[in-house]
Amino acid sequence: MKKEIKIALAGNPNSGKTTVFNNLTGAKQHIGNYPGVTVEKKTGERKYKGYKINIVDLPGTYSLTAYSLDEVVARNFIIDEKPDVVVDIIDSSNLERNLYLATQLMELDMPLVFAFNMTDVAKSSGKKIDIKLLSELMGVPIVETIGHQNKGMNELLDTVINAAEKKTKEKKVIVRYGEEIENEVEKIAAILTKEDVLTEKLNPRWLAIKLLEQDKEVIEAVKKSTGGDYKKIEKIVNKSMAHIKSILRDSPETVIADARYGFINGALQEAYEETQAGKITASDKIDKVVTNRILGLPIFFGLMWLMFQFVFTVGAYPMDWIDMGFGKLGDLASNALSEGLLQSFIVDGLIGGVGGVLIFTPNIILLFICIAILEDSGYMARAAFVMDRIMHKIGLHGKSFIPMLIGFGCTIPAYMAARTLENRKDRLVTMHVNTFMSCGARLPIYILLAGAFFPAYAGNVIFSIYVIGIVMAILMAKLLRSTRFKGEAAPFVMELPPYRVPTFKGVMVHMWERTKLYLKKAGTIILAVAIIIWILFTFPKIGDNYSTDYDAEIVSLEESCESSSITKEELEEAIVVIEGKMAEEELEYSAAGRMGHFIEPVFKPLGFDWRMAIATISGIAAKEVVVSTMGTLYSISEADEESESLRETLANEYSPLVGYNFMLFSLLYFPCMAGIAVFRREAGRKEMWFQIGYTLLLAWVVSFVVFQIGRLFI
Ligand code: GDP
Ligand code: MG
Repeated sequence: MKKEIKIALAGNPNSGKTTVFNNLTGAKQHIGNYPGVTVEKKTGERKYKGYKINIVDLPGTYSLTAYSLDEVVARNFIIDEKPDVVVDIIDSSNLERNLYLATQLMELDMPLVFAFNMTDVAKSSGKKIDIKLLSELMGVPIVETIGHQNKGMNELLDTVINAAEKKTKEKKVIVRYGEEIENEVEKIAAILTKEDVLTEKLNPRWLAIKLLEQDKEVIEAVKKSTGGDYKKIEKIVNKSMAHIKSILRDSPETVIADARYGFINGALQEAYEETQAGKITASDKIDKVVTNRILGLPIFFGLMWLMFQFVFTVGAYPMDWIDMGFGKLGDLASNALSEGLLQSFIVDGLIGGVGGVLIFTPNIILLFICIAILEDSGYMARAAFVMDRIMHKIGLHGKSFIPMLIGFGCTIPAYMAARTLENRKDRLVTMHVNTFMSCGARLPIYILLAGAFFPAYAGNVIFSIYVIGIVMAILMAKLLRSTRFKGEAAPFVMELPPYRVPTFKGVMVHMWERTKLYLKKAGTIILAVAIIIWILFTFPKIGDNYSTDYDAEIVSLEESCESSSITKEELEEAIVVIEGKMAEEELEYSAAGRMGHFIEPVFKPLGFDWRMAIATISGIAAKEVVVSTMGTLYSISEADEESESLRETLANEYSPLVGYNFMLFSLLYFPCMAGIAVFRREAGRKEMWFQIGYTLLLAWVVSFVVFQIGRLFI
């Protein structure tokens, strides 16, 4: 019995479709029309290795939208007739343009084979295509053919049969359309699935994309299938379209098309070389520079350096105003309330703690504006591309770098973004090293400490911490890859979307999404932890348990003043010293003080005293809490009336080496409780404990080495 296979030839006009069709079918052809339209339908058959292969030559199209009759006919044939395999005939001398149709076919959930035709032309014009790599990148088998010389036809048939029999392992590659579009696609797909619209025939993601593209045919089909109920879906689609338009300033259709070209561009950057210059767009010219093998990395780091200079220098002004504001508020509260628990709670606990975090809001806003501009302009994709090449070189999966760049904002969405990695090992390695990409919550720590210890070079110091984070991520990824997570890294396409001028609204929306989280955290978890920290630092009360009778000391000093053996100034100075000692003892007597002393030995080799130890531990709740705890702690221990800023206090108490080391430690240990909860959900309990354990260990070892070596020189 002969097996029958039905295949359809798709492709751009003049890609050699008819030539290939003739090669395959020989004389056995039939010419008719597609039902209901005047478009010519050519069918034929071929017997090959015991198979009867029915072949349809689809109309030549550049795309699969509903713009032209040809496109609609080609698409409907594929969707309605469900051929076993679609063969896309691609003019390989004009890859970028031809692959546009290819990316659309890839979305159609069909066994697919690419015939790279006209390879003779491509070769003679000096184009080099890495077929094997490109095939892996796109997840579609590729056969090289030369139509008019009848070359490659048997290979093509073999590949088609394999695809029809599902012998080729299918590795579906999905073109991603960027966060903005993907979010809306998800929403629309969800309602389509819920309402069960055409789901037996088409996948909801494809339908959703088509609805966003306002594809007339698809809208009609959806209308028909839902009957009167289309309004509900239409409302959601319209809302999504308006949202995309307002943020990206372009219609979803354009943005989606751009993303497809971005995918092609990225794939060709990897697997295609043109020895003779073809037409070069402005985008290509910029890419030549920013993704250059030698310049790419310095440009990336240069931009980052500028960013932190900007965030620190410009942010310093509003930060100082807010800082002053909270200072005034603190004084006001001190005066309004009588000395005692309530005053301490408001001034030290709330204003010192939560206020200490809030003053960094301007820096956070600036950082998120910079990141949004880098992302929206398309540069971040290039940065990922450059890093990808490095990661590739040392045998790592490059796709990891996208989640990692998201980690500059917040580690939690970065953990979730790792889902795009199909391979579990790739995903886990990415998540495990994501921690080292400094999130926004860590910025307050750096700004506080860099400002305190290195006021003249704060921008550079913060930049250095971020760079150390990236380097550490790469080193650890390499280490994990060669130990716990051994295995092959699969290649993938890094999308390189065209550059676009970021819109004001888009940048603001993206900035605000992240800043909102920061402020929300300040009002919830940071507030809660600040209260707990204040309680732990305030109770139990020391009562009469001072090491010496300070009251007696003061009385005797006052007596000496009265008998004029010391001056009034000397008396006041001495009292300040004594009150400082008392405050210190009160703190050490408190619950947190005892805990701090208990764990101090662990942190001593890193140069941290018990107060830093407590701040570090409180940072487990959220990294900003490190700052709020320090705010509360040093606010309580402040004995003199003249309130110094937290920065001054820190600079007086510790050496710059300890300050820097503290930033390093904060960089390296796992992000926060919420992050760990997400980590567990995404990767399981065992990996969560591994993450906690190895980042703590790493933070400790690195800080230990830096402090021990550093103090030999300083
Ligand atoms: P269609 O529009 O896709 O059906 O393209 P055709 O099959 O009509 O081919 C267009 C032209 O390209 C014809 O002149 C073919 O002879 C020529 N052609 C087809 N395949 C190749 C090939 O692999 N190399 C070269 N150099 N020319 C080819
Ligand atoms: Mg033709």
